[in-house]
Amino acid sequence: MSNKESSEFNFPEATLVKSTEIFGLCKNIVIGKGNVNALIMFIGESPGRNEDEQGFPFVGAAGKNLDKLLEKVGLSMNDVYIANILKCRPPENRAPSNDEIRAHTPWLLKQINEISPKVICSLGNYATKFFLAGADVDSMKNQPGITSVHGKVRIIELHGKNVKLIPLFHPAAIIYNRSLLSEWEKDIEIVKKEITQKSLF
Ligand code: URA
Repeated sequence: MSNKESSEFNFPEATLVKSTEIFGLCKNIVIGKGNVNALIMFIGESPGRNEDEQGFPFVGAAGKNLDKLLEKVGLSMNDVYIANILKCRPPENRAPSNDEIRAHTPWLLKQINEISPKVICSLGNYATKFFLAGADVDSMKNQPGITSVHGKVRIIELHGKNVKLIPLFHPAAIIYNRSLLSEWEKDIEIVKKEITQKSLF
């Protein structure tokens, strides 16, 4: 059963998502998964076919890489919350448009505000640029790409709170470009180091 008609989704941020064309085209709204009290969030780009079918993020091939990352750093689904920039699958998995990012990220920001994580791992270019731009979609185009910032930890401010941003290659990129694997593994070590720092929590 699709969750698109759920009466829970009548708050302004959800209404904004529903106003976009891709809401009409998707099967489910992919809200997120994991622990809403988690200190660490992982943010991807947009749901793919499997995610759209099942209504949860990262349940397909890219999700397997993300699961491996979590395992390597000693985290379970109970330690993290995982969501995407877009709540609905764009047709043929095309890139999100600026208008879609503008309409879908208020819901994501509401989730981040409620969860209040200490660490955000942004997965791939779109999520990374969104946070580096301070959630200003128009400024995303001026941000450096994931190739130059992956594994570089920085503090960003969201809703007046400091959050550690750790940009990572998108787990799907590792599938298509095996040469990224060694970088990805080094970045996993960085995540491990950052999340085990006592001063964080
Ligand atoms: N890629 C993403 O960015 N998000 C998903 O949920 C699945 C694949």
